Amino acid sequence: MTKRASLTPKQREAMYEAQDGFCGCGCKRAIYPDWCVAEHEWPVALGNTGKPDGLWHPHCASVKTNGTPATTYGSDRHEIAKARRLEKRRLVDSEKVCNGKALSDFSAQNDGFGRLTKRAKIRSRGFDKSLRKKMNGEVVRVDG
Ligand SMILES: [Zn+2]
Repeated sequence: MTKRASLTPKQREAMYEAQDGFCGCGCKRAIYPDWCVAEHEWPVALGNTGKPDGLWHPHCASVKTNGTPATTYGSDRHEIAKARRLEKRRLVDSEKVCNGKALSDFSAQNDGFGRLTKRAKIRSRGFDKSLRKKMNGEVVRVDG
């Protein structure tokens, strides 16, 4: 877990002054020094190691972090889930390249369902290596 940097009381006070006592999300709700949440515009969970950059109304902070009861769309949680999905896909892609070698030149094929299938290589039936033709045209059987 990333350690959250926190505001000093002075910084918090200065931030409160700078926002004129309104919520940092722009909703114009009034906040009070002891009735607000220090929020990160860019979520800590996504790598923000800096200090909070705004004081938010507790309700707005909750919506930002967890989304509304109806949807997490646009919330931090949504962004975090998305970041995880992308990361997972990136890992799967790099796996394809190492284990299945490169997609193109090792006869790996997409089966149309997003899975990779190996296509059997077409092989010649081969020929009888135990026979050899001499320079004079005579065919002889050799061992091995
Ligand atoms: Zn707000």
